[in-house]
Amino acid sequence: MMEYPLLLRGILERSRKLFPKKEIVSRDYTGIWRYNYGDFYKRVCRLANVLQEMGIHKGDRVATLAWNNHRHLELYFGVTCYGALLHTLNLRLFTEQLEYVINHAEDKVIFVDQDLLPLLEGIKDKLPTVQAYIVMTDSDELPATGLNPVYSYEKLLAAAPDAFDFPEDLDEYTPAAMCYTTATTGDPKGVIYTHRGLYLHSMCIGLADSLALSETDSLLPIVPMFHVNAWGLPYACTWFGSKQVLPGARPDPATICKLIEEEKVTLAAGVPTIWMAVLAAYRQQKFDFSSVRGFVCGGSAAPKALIKAFDEEIGVPILHAYGMTETTPVVLVSKPKSYMLDWPADQLYDAKAKQGLLVPGLEMKVVDEEGREAAWDGKQIGELWLRGPWIAKEYYKDPERSKPAFAGGWLHTSDIVSVDKEGFVSIVDRAKDLIKSGGEWISSVDLENTIMAHPAVQEAAVVAMPHEKWVERPVACVVIREDWKGRLSEADIISFLEDKVAKWWLPDKVIFVDEIPKTSVGKFNKKALRQRLEQA
Ligand code: ADP
Repeated sequence: MMEYPLLLRGILERSRKLFPKKEIVSRDYTGIWRYNYGDFYKRVCRLANVLQEMGIHKGDRVATLAWNNHRHLELYFGVTCYGALLHTLNLRLFTEQLEYVINHAEDKVIFVDQDLLPLLEGIKDKLPTVQAYIVMTDSDELPATGLNPVYSYEKLLAAAPDAFDFPEDLDEYTPAAMCYTTATTGDPKGVIYTHRGLYLHSMCIGLADSLALSETDSLLPIVPMFHVNAWGLPYACTWFGSKQVLPGARPDPATICKLIEEEKVTLAAGVPTIWMAVLAAYRQQKFDFSSVRGFVCGGSAAPKALIKAFDEEIGVPILHAYGMTETTPVVLVSKPKSYMLDWPADQLYDAKAKQGLLVPGLEMKVVDEEGREAAWDGKQIGELWLRGPWIAKEYYKDPERSKPAFAGGWLHTSDIVSVDKEGFVSIVDRAKDLIKSGGEWISSVDLENTIMAHPAVQEAAVVAMPHEKWVERPVACVVIREDWKGRLSEADIISFLEDKVAKWWLPDKVIFVDEIPKTSVGKFNKKALRQRLEQA
């Protein structure tokens, strides 16, 4: 008998058979759309028939340019279970980058949300591989567009049969999805996720010691579905029959809070800047978050002050996790061990603010500049290396950049970390953001998280600025909370830091700004910040 292949088809079939009544809620352009896994399955089948009708073959790249909504979820399964490759386009890429990734992936068709059409209209003449555009709207009427040929998603689905025989004989190593990660220099880099990788990663998300996702959950992914598969959560939810709450286009903090309250969300996932904004909204208006068991926070370091504020003001824990595009993404989850719960509160918060323990299924190594493994003493630092079934092995069609990043069969993450005696990993910094002052390292992340513990500070980002004597010195950019404006000086921040960090860590300058520039997925954009400061 053939070995049983680990395919997304198995995930889809389980939700159809076991959870046909469980709900999927999607914030559409015209309101809230609700259906269940039973009806979802039928639409996924219709979509697969549409793909067949359009002449899509196994392995063809099918792109999406879409928000977190039910149509995007249908594409997650329709495209992958059909055997084609789902390429989720990042809608916040610069135009040239968007053009680059579509051409590099050689996308054959693009499924696009109605309000994102302008992003493609500007580059349509430069996309030779794209044979058709399918526009996703709430009705079957198409908005006026210069794209050609163009079809209506709803119309195509309505005309297609609602049954489909998804292939059972796909190799589990068949690429299912892909995503591009922005590089510091050069073009974005493509990462492939295989059926096997996504399957095992989903299983990991369900483990009690990772995110413990289960049928009882109502999950709100705020992290975009175009970015690392919304951290793999839509696949895992579908498998386990969890309720999914998809927040749609441009959800603002008040919309997020309302969805949590009304849909009785139990788990939501987003980057720290999202949780900072939600906290600010919650301070204005007390929403009912009593259904929530945790807010998953990853993508950048979760500041200790944020974790504490959520515990103390909202009564909901932040679950700190770490990963990257190349890792599908879940790698580390900060869940204290049972005996750590007896630790003094402050020490426990320190542990929760670390990125945490390696999840089951992966292997890691921390390697210093001389190629030696760093001791697990919480002090020695080195680069985090990873391998395992859901860690990428290369960049797509990019042997030159793959070579150093995946040398020796390990992913070299470029993240500089230390590991403590408990095995908890701390991301000290991204290699490129570490501040090198007089031959010693300063962690920009530690410094900004300490600044963000000041009650008047909403956000803070620390970057290195060139210095004649010390090579580099830290400069802090700080956003003050609305109710504190005009009442805080540079000296206040420095004196706040004085008993918390080493003297030589104190920023040379504190600059008050209206906002910190963010990347396409809401992280602090330190490259842009450094450029701004250089020009100032
Ligand atoms: P981008 O490079 O566009 O940010 P990724 O999402 O792949 O794309 O970024 C992954 C990086 O984000 C990691 O290498 C790490 O530097 C950072 N990161 C992710 N999660 C955390 C976390 N919990 N704490 C600190 N840094 C994190």
